[in-house]
Amino acid sequence: MILIDTHCDTLSVMAGLGGDISVTGQTITPERMRQGGVTMQVCTLFAGVDGPAGDPAGLARKQLAAARGFTDEGIKHIKEFGEIEDGAPSILLSVEGAEIFEGSMESLRWYYDAGVRMCALTWNHENELGYPHCKDSEKPLKPFGWEAVREMNGLGVAVDVSHLGTGGFWDLIERAEKPPMASHSCCLALQPRFTRNLSDDQIKALIERGGWIGMNFCSAFLSDARATLDDIVRHIAHIAELGGVRNVGFGSDFDGIPCNPIGLDGPHDFPNLISALRGLFTPEEVEGIAGLNFIEYSKRL
Ligand SMILES: [Zn+2]
Repeated sequence: MILIDTHCDTLSVMAGLGGDISVTGQTITPERMRQGGVTMQVCTLFAGVDGPAGDPAGLARKQLAAARGFTDEGIKHIKEFGEIEDGAPSILLSVEGAEIFEGSMESLRWYYDAGVRMCALTWNHENELGYPHCKDSEKPLKPFGWEAVREMNGLGVAVDVSHLGTGGFWDLIERAEKPPMASHSCCLALQPRFTRNLSDDQIKALIERGGWIGMNFCSAFLSDARATLDDIVRHIAHIAELGGVRNVGFGSDFDGIPCNPIGLDGPHDFPNLISALRGLFTPEEVEGIAGLNFIEYSKRL
């Protein structure tokens, strides 16, 4: 089975930087990836909690260097979605917070050459591209944001709306050449406390455009208590009810979340989640959710 996870903060932890929040110890390891049958793990280069006011490019370079921790243990570092191969575990790079580019198209292309194939335009700060979900959310993308999106659409880099404000989100839905995706977000209708979750209108728009959504495993995004496997299944089922059973998958956020769900302490526990999904979905749908839906999405880029 092809199993894909589109978001983790493991490179931050490996580089000793902490993730989205302060996480100690590494949840995703090469050994656990193999145990859980993970085919491809997207590892993000995170801009850092201080955003543009910090040293996003410097932090990104440190995380890039930390990726060697995977390749040294026999995990392939792939640079194209077409290289995803059943039975050959791999990592692929993304960016979380495009202030890493420091407003430079040349820098964007440098990260592309380094293997970045997915990019969250913002984290939780305003940057050169646009505005996050948590402040001035409704403002549109900035001119450099559009320049960067056009370049990414041309290069085949997935534009990631997780953390982006609603203004930027609807801009992309209406005007971007290629379908956007959300690498690690859940359903606002089931957990309205988090503006990082997607509204039903946003989910329907992503489905209609041929986009893709990875479920975040953060307990607080899924439930009011510590999340269970059933909570993840419930959020996936909600997307399926909106017509997106072929547009959904996993974006664990491991190593960036403070509390993993019960029964899902790391990638080694993915078989538990697959079993839980089999209780509600057909074998074909489960294969899609596990990874094939993402592969199909990547072909639309
Ligand atoms: Zn995040």
